Amino acid sequence: MSLVIEQLSKTYANGVQALRDLSLTVPPGLFGLLGPNGAGKSTLMRTIATLQRPDSGKISFRGIDVLSEPARLRAMLGYLPQEFGLYPSMPADAILDHFALLKGVTNAAVRRELVHRLLEQVNLYEVRHNPVSGFSGGMRQRLGIAIALSGNPSLLIVDEPTAGLDPQERNRFLNLLADVGEDVVVILSTHIVEDVRDICSEIAIINGGTVVLHGTPARVLDDVRGRIWRKRVPRKHTQAIQAQYNVLSMRLSAGQSLVHIFSETAPGDGFEPVEPDLEDVYFHRLRAAPGQSRGNAAPATR
Ligand code: ADP
Repeated sequence: MSLVIEQLSKTYANGVQALRDLSLTVPPGLFGLLGPNGAGKSTLMRTIATLQRPDSGKISFRGIDVLSEPARLRAMLGYLPQEFGLYPSMPADAILDHFALLKGVTNAAVRRELVHRLLEQVNLYEVRHNPVSGFSGGMRQRLGIAIALSGNPSLLIVDEPTAGLDPQERNRFLNLLADVGEDVVVILSTHIVEDVRDICSEIAIINGGTVVLHGTPARVLDDVRGRIWRKRVPRKHTQAIQAQYNVLSMRLSAGQSLVHIFSETAPGDGFEPVEPDLEDVYFHRLRAAPGQSRGNAAPATR
């Protein structure tokens, strides 16, 4: 029932190695694929979705050898890419009807029923007759999910869906994904830790085209437990702290900086131990991983 990815590698024509011997087993449920920009998430998503081929490796899903039988995989796949076009002047229900027909739902009454149910599921039923040109980013993403679900997929891939959504719309969208269904493998790729923190049953952190950590959110926290320390410092001291400690993140709080550092032993100097959160794990892993991708050198501001 799981999606099994084995030793996937991909180097683009320009010499960028986007995937390095990447192996990952993704069980049914909502799986968060977390990584910074350039980590290789989209390359992995597109490869699983059979839109591009790797140089080497193997992908299997429910008895299908995905790379040699792409059509069989596509019949079970729902894919929401980072960017997708919709016919702007068409109303939501007509678009959904169109895609359901393309997915092979030829009986008009069955299709009407399906479109109705999907619009309710993604909370767009009230606006079903409105042209999508007037839809907000979140509404468009929800319609995108309805389209992806219209073929009743057993594998749903959603690539960076929350970019540009406000917090309320982001929550609404993520809850929708969490409710998709127990036996469906749902892969959510994102660079936002908050997206995966509460709703994913498993997560993997990828960086430099390879998996640097994989497990349940609770298990993943064990990676740094007992080694995260925090301290409130005046903003003008942050540079000195950075020079001295392995700073994972800094958050402005009441005019001061709340600094999280990683240290194997108690650093003293006013630092107190703190229960790690997923961001601590994430930033620690990104800094520790070989072949760091761009943008990880500086501690994160959160
Ligand atoms: P992410 O989705 O995590 O941001 P990508 O898979 O888009 O990562 O990119 C991984 C690396 O591969 C990046 O360095 C990116 O610039 C590069 N890359 C992605 N697509 C292409 C392409 N079509 N041609 C060349 N390089 C690419």
